Amino acid sequence: MLKLSNFIGGEFASLEENLYIDNYDPSIGKVYAQIPDSSEHEINLAVEAAQKAFHTWSKTPCSTRAQIMYRIADILESKLDEFAMAESKDQGKTLEFAKNVDIPRSIYNFRYFAGHILHMEEKATVMDNGYLNYVQRSPLGVAGLISPWNLPLYLLTWKIAPCIAAGCTCVAKPSEFTSVTAYMLCDIFKQAGLPEGVVNMVFGKGPKAGQALVSHPKVPLISFTGGTVTGKKLNETCAPLFKKVSLELGGKNANIIFEDCDFEKAVDTSIRAAFSNQGEICLCGSRIFVQKSIYKKFLESFVPKVRQLVVGDPRDPKTKVGALISKQHMEKVLGYIELAKQEGGVIECGGERKQLDGEFSDGYFVEPTVITNIKPSCRVAQEEIFGPVSLKFGL
Ligand code: NAD
Repeated sequence: MLKLSNFIGGEFASLEENLYIDNYDPSIGKVYAQIPDSSEHEINLAVEAAQKAFHTWSKTPCSTRAQIMYRIADILESKLDEFAMAESKDQGKTLEFAKNVDIPRSIYNFRYFAGHILHMEEKATVMDNGYLNYVQRSPLGVAGLISPWNLPLYLLTWKIAPCIAAGCTCVAKPSEFTSVTAYMLCDIFKQAGLPEGVVNMVFGKGPKAGQALVSHPKVPLISFTGGTVTGKKLNETCAPLFKKVSLELGGKNANIIFEDCDFEKAVDTSIRAAFSNQGEICLCGSRIFVQKSIYKKFLESFVPKVRQLVVGDPRDPKTKVGALISKQHMEKVLGYIELAKQEGGVIECGGERKQLDGEFSDGYFVEPTVITNIKPSCRVAQEEIFGPVSLKFGL
């Protein structure tokens, strides 16, 4: 069984045998890896390593930092298939999505921020009164980076790349549901010659390892992507400590379709917006408001196309909807579908767990679901479902 280690000060470090968390392959509902259940102790070691590295890294010329980041991007690109396969297995998403979105964008994150520091200009302005105003950007110190499970490597590198480009060092804590590609990335950091301690990866649960990182007095900057409730909690810890905090939280986004739209494009794009990555995207178009004059026609075109979306083996190129991240999350999504029925909703298609055969019989699959007859003020229309469920409104 795959067993992950923390990456602290450039070294892989294991924990005691009993301090590991089971990690599931959501498409088969079985444990296939174990990740460290890290605590304050590991966070302290990682922050210490990051602080030590900061002295040199913050003074390393931009050109050198960029060179290393380009190397990271190149090595990751050479392993695109391997990483896409790992992301699909760990998260349940289709291999196609991981290959075309998650991993290419992770590569892009390193290239983009490497390019940015090479071309960044420090601007000075002479004011009318003769004073000179200028902005100087200087690295702040050790950043705490906390990422979610829906786009694991993509959102983690979206934090690591700007952090190290700016000359900061970091302790990253990926989601406990999806740590595998983050672990694989540590090997690439070594190969690319990233100095030890610049990026430290500590695996574990949010309330334990995550909370220890957020409240650490030597971490002045926190970048967090995740749920709104968690974000609120984080802010409660950070505000009295005057930390710099960036929060990217949950969503409940609306697509608005007018009668003068390009009809076919509007239907196809709305399907993609609602069901890509099993609807597990913060900016998914999970509510669709359609002008009354075309509402019926829109629904008649939308629903049969949703019925055709293949749910199944994430590695099969025909599959469009893979597995949800966990059993709890699948139950939460199914719970919202039940709630929609209680709130008067009509299930136009889907609405159930998708039971597959053989290897995938215990996988966490949900049929792509379309619900109508819901009032915009209902709970299902207000709260984030984060699954393959699309709500339609005629306006
Ligand atoms: P989550 O809030 O449960 O967890 C996110 C991360 O925070 C995980 O690494 C988790 O271990 C950690 N965490 C949990 N409790 C913590 C605590 N007390 N202290 C410190 N860290 C803690 O979110 P999730 O379920 O992993 O992700 C799904 C959510 O993320 C959805 O709401 C989605 O909309 C949101 N999201 C937002 C964006 C965006 O850009 N706005 C992007 C992707 C996902």
